[in-house]
Amino acid sequence: MTWVTVDRPTSEELDACVQCGLCLPVCPTFRLTGRETASPRGRLQAMSAVENGIVDVDETFAGIIDFCLGCRACEPVCPGMVPYGRVLEGARAEIVSQVPGRQRRRGWIQGSVIPSRGVMRAGAGLLSMAQSLGLTGLAPKKYERIVGGARRLRGRPGPSIGHIGGTGEAGTVGLLSGCIQDQWFRPVNQAAIDLLEMAGHRVEVPKGQTCCGALAAHDGKAKESHKMAAINVAAFAGYDIVVATGAGCSAHLGGYEHWDANGESVGGVSVDVTVAIARAIDDGRLPQLDTPRGQIAIQDPCHLRHAQGVIREPRRILEAAGYEVAESDEVAFCCGAAGLYTILQPEASAQLGNQKADQIRSTGVTRVASANPGCEMQLRSYLEDDYEIAHPIEWYLAALVEESD
Ligand code: SF4
Ligand code: SF4
Repeated sequence: MTWVTVDRPTSEELDACVQCGLCLPVCPTFRLTGRETASPRGRLQAMSAVENGIVDVDETFAGIIDFCLGCRACEPVCPGMVPYGRVLEGARAEIVSQVPGRQRRRGWIQGSVIPSRGVMRAGAGLLSMAQSLGLTGLAPKKYERIVGGARRLRGRPGPSIGHIGGTGEAGTVGLLSGCIQDQWFRPVNQAAIDLLEMAGHRVEVPKGQTCCGALAAHDGKAKESHKMAAINVAAFAGYDIVVATGAGCSAHLGGYEHWDANGESVGGVSVDVTVAIARAIDDGRLPQLDTPRGQIAIQDPCHLRHAQGVIREPRRILEAAGYEVAESDEVAFCCGAAGLYTILQPEASAQLGNQKADQIRSTGVTRVASANPGCEMQLRSYLEDDYEIAHPIEWYLAALVEESD
């Protein structure tokens, strides 16, 4: 049997691969194993074999696809311009449709729990209590990296949802509050609101929005992801810019044309917050600070660097704050967080997490900037307690506040 869903990898997408192998050296799973089936080229060949009716979408095929991080490091180096991230989501949607039991596994979490603000709030409340009582060590082994990598939640700002403020001479921003972001990373959303308003934007966080759908799409829950995209397309209609504060979210919004008939109306105006803030600094709407603040190590989230080609902007923001950026990884290998990868592929995730932590340690700097919640949590769980990790816009806002005191 071949493909059965509308999200399937298309023959046009698969035929774009010319088998050159340029993607192999940048692929973390190929580097870890040396196996062709753990490489982008090998995975595309497996998909072509399904397309041609040579193999079925079964557990063997699922194993090949499951091991992929979805980091998209293979995309920028590809001369055939294979849209690998899109193809991967298509293959995963097929696995969920065709491999028994896959729809049930995690489907209700991604379709109902994660988009539910009430359930996420309750979960954050429990985590906050566990942190205060020193009980996070009791978390099941499977979740210990996630729990251990979370920020301290006590004393965090209130939720951003429903916020409206700012003058608007630089245009109106619709801010995606994010599912995990609005519970576990509220200071990042608050920093985005403060800076965007300082830069002359009116900022609205529309109540009708939901989770962007990235986690569901990456896990093959296409039905849930289409539904979330439709809700957000309606909620963000008419904004000049749509901004997301997590790199995984901004990358997914940018690809909304694949998830909703009107998705381009949001995808075409969406940017990562680092792009919006760097633009305001470049335009002189936000200041460049002159006080030197020493070095800061940077980590490039895959969905910012590989999926969106955003490399300069987080550096620009940190430099405008007065920091000298210490590079830790020119290739920008995945840190191993990759959505649910920490839970589903713990060994490979740990190897990549340790490798990333070593790269950060090698800079000799204990301040770290990361623009994605999953990466930040992975870094925190593999680095020692004296490392201070925050989003580039938080480092910048803190410098502005310090300067104004
Ligand atoms: S770089 Fe692109 S074209 Fe070359 S093997 Fe990899 S996916 Fe195929
Ligand atoms: S997305 Fe990442 S792990 Fe998957 S094939 Fe591409 S480079 Fe390899």
